Amino acid sequence: MKKIAFIGLGNMGFPMAANLVRAGYEVGVYDLSADAVSRLASEGARAGRSPLDAADGADAVITMLPNGKIVCDLYLGPEGLIHALQDRPLLIDCSTIAPETARTVAAEAAAAGFSMLDAPVSGGPPRAAEGTLSFMVGGSGEALDAARPVLEKMGRFVFHAGGNGAGQAAKICNNMLAAVAMAGTAEVMELGVRNGLDPAVLSAIIQKSSGNNFVLERWNPWPGVLPEAPASKGYAPGFQLALMLKDLGLALDNARANGASVPMGALAQSLYALRSKEDGAGASDFSCIQTLYSRGA
Ligand code: NAD
Repeated sequence: MKKIAFIGLGNMGFPMAANLVRAGYEVGVYDLSADAVSRLASEGARAGRSPLDAADGADAVITMLPNGKIVCDLYLGPEGLIHALQDRPLLIDCSTIAPETARTVAAEAAAAGFSMLDAPVSGGPPRAAEGTLSFMVGGSGEALDAARPVLEKMGRFVFHAGGNGAGQAAKICNNMLAAVAMAGTAEVMELGVRNGLDPAVLSAIIQKSSGNNFVLERWNPWPGVLPEAPASKGYAPGFQLALMLKDLGLALDNARANGASVPMGALAQSLYALRSKEDGAGASDFSCIQTLYSRGA
């Protein structure tokens, strides 16, 4: 694979596409934001005038878009890529969308002769910039074999989760657990501080004890414990609370459809929704859930 189209150049897509340019791929790009397109063109990408123009002659099309409706419109709409493209590039959607939507898009793409992968990612903009994302991939092993060298230019870990939609299922499971772990960690930090414990000492103790978890180690919600964590930078994202709420919504819808019981996920969703009602909180890092406990809510 030499020619890649990249559509959706936001906080995640821009650095991912830039890594492909740096890796030597010919990258055609498109975004509704002309500014994002021209900034990436100045780094060596070819500016597309439309999704179709960006995808012209591409071996693979990668999308990194806000939600499932936009993904469906782009691929399946009346002027969607599966109808408009003359060639049959591999389609790779890295957006976070519902597993059932991913399966629908992949099935319609397959009916039109395309192979498609869902390949959502974990890791925010900093890991996108470093090229150290985790990809959770749904689709055929053959399609993943073809995509792997490209994905490895943007990520450190590439997991094959299963068939179409399985990558998205893994993604919503991961993010629901991250949401629960963050809320639980914030709760415990507040309890410890109210007992007179130093939050850094408490964190060091738990990190070597049975309560250790990823957010405690890398995303500590108490300001000042980890100098590089969003909590120490006024809760600047990081991973926006609004995006976590979107992902919890996908997880809860999916749980309902599958008859799975997710009371911890539902409680986490309520807590983050409560926090997001405050001014500007949706744009803050999701670790700002800490302040809900600090006020004794
Ligand atoms: P973003 O809002 O920063 O970027 C989305 C981009 O898509 C924007 O530049 C927008 O102009 C563009 N866009 C929207 N509709 C379009 C269309 N029809 N055609 C072309 N471009 C279009 O969002 P983001 O943070 O980059 O997230 C993208 C996806 O990645 C989402 O699904 C999100 O849930 C997921 N994700 C985000 C993070 C994160 O930390 N930001 C982490 C993991 C996964």
